[in-house]
Amino acid sequence: MLISLIIPVYNEQSGLADFWQVTDGILSQCKQDFEVILVDDGSTDNSWQSITSLTHNSRDAIQIQGLRLSRNFGKEAAILAGLRQASGNAAIVMDADLQHPPSMIPQMLSAWNGGKVGIVEAVKRKRQDESLPRRLGAKLYYRVFNLASRLDMDGSSDFKLLDRRVVDQYIALPEVGRFFRGLTAWLGFHAVAVAFDPPQRHTGRSNWSIGNLMKLARSTIISFSSLPLRAVTWLGGIGILFSAMLTLQTLWYKWQGFAEEGFPTVILLILAMGSMILLGLGLIGEYIAEIYQEVKHRPTYVISQSISPSNRDNQTTPRSD
Ligand code: UDP
Ligand code: MG
Repeated sequence: MLISLIIPVYNEQSGLADFWQVTDGILSQCKQDFEVILVDDGSTDNSWQSITSLTHNSRDAIQIQGLRLSRNFGKEAAILAGLRQASGNAAIVMDADLQHPPSMIPQMLSAWNGGKVGIVEAVKRKRQDESLPRRLGAKLYYRVFNLASRLDMDGSSDFKLLDRRVVDQYIALPEVGRFFRGLTAWLGFHAVAVAFDPPQRHTGRSNWSIGNLMKLARSTIISFSSLPLRAVTWLGGIGILFSAMLTLQTLWYKWQGFAEEGFPTVILLILAMGSMILLGLGLIGEYIAEIYQEVKHRPTYVISQSISPSNRDNQTTPRSD
C-alpha cells in the first residue's frame, strides 16, 4: 500500500528539518510505503531550498517530492496541488509546523482500515491556546457555518486522511475556490474521528492574521450557503409588515388631525430602510463577487517547479492546473 503525505509549506524554513526528523521517525515504523509531497506555497524564505535538500533523503519506502507554486496562492490551493499529484491508496494532509502531530499517522492508518473507511479526521480535543477574541471568533464562526451549511465542522481541522475514492472525488470538483474542511464534509463519505491535542507552534509563526481569518469566514460561508441571501428576503418581509402597521397608524393620526407629529418616525424610517437596502445590496454583491471568481475559471494555482528523486537534476516542469 502506498500512502501519500501532502504537506503545504509557507515560510517554514526554520522548522522543516525538525518536521522531517520527527515525521521520518514515525514513517519508518509503519509498514506501508510513503510518498511525501511538500508543496511550497510561494514562500519568500528558503523553504524551497530546504525542500530540495530533503528530496535527497528519499529511499525506496519513502519518496520525497517537492512542488513549487509560482506565488502564494494560499493553503487551500497548496493542498489541492498536492492531492492532484498524489498517487497513493490514501492521502494524509498535514501542516508542516508539527501542530498536526505525525505520531497520529499510525492511528489514522489503522482507522482507515485498508480502505474500508473513506475519511479519517483528526479532531482537536481542545483548541490551541489562543487569545480570547480569537477563540470567541472561531466559536461564532463555526456556529454560523454549521447553521448555514448544515455541516458539522466543530473541532475539525485540515489534518485528515482521505481514501483514494475521496481524493478522486475531491480533485474532480469543479470549483476554483476551495475549502478543504467543508468540502470533505460535503462529499459525505463514511468518516471516523480520532482525537488529538494540538501542540503549540515551535518555530516560525502562524500565517493567519485576523483580516485573513475574516476573509476566509466570509468566503466559506458564502460558498456553502445561500442562507444570508434568504435572510435578506426575510428582512424585507418583516419590513413590509412593519410598514403596513405604520401606514395604519399614520392614517389614523391623519384622521385624528395631528398628522405632522410623526416627523421623528419619518427620519428613523428613512435611516432604517436605507441601511437595510444597503445591507441587502452589499450581500448580493458578495455573492456576485463569488460567482465572478468562479466563472473566470482561472486555475486555483500555478506550478512553477517540481522536483522528485527521479528528476532532481532536471527540475523545471512548469505546468498549471
Ligand atoms: N500555509 C500555506 N500557505 C499559506 C499559509 C499557510 O501553505 O498561505 C501552510 C503552513 O506552512 C502550514 C499550514 O499551512 O504548514 C498551516 O499554517 P499555519 O500554521 O500558519 O496555520 P494555523 O496552524 O494557525 O492554522
Ligand atoms: Mg500552525
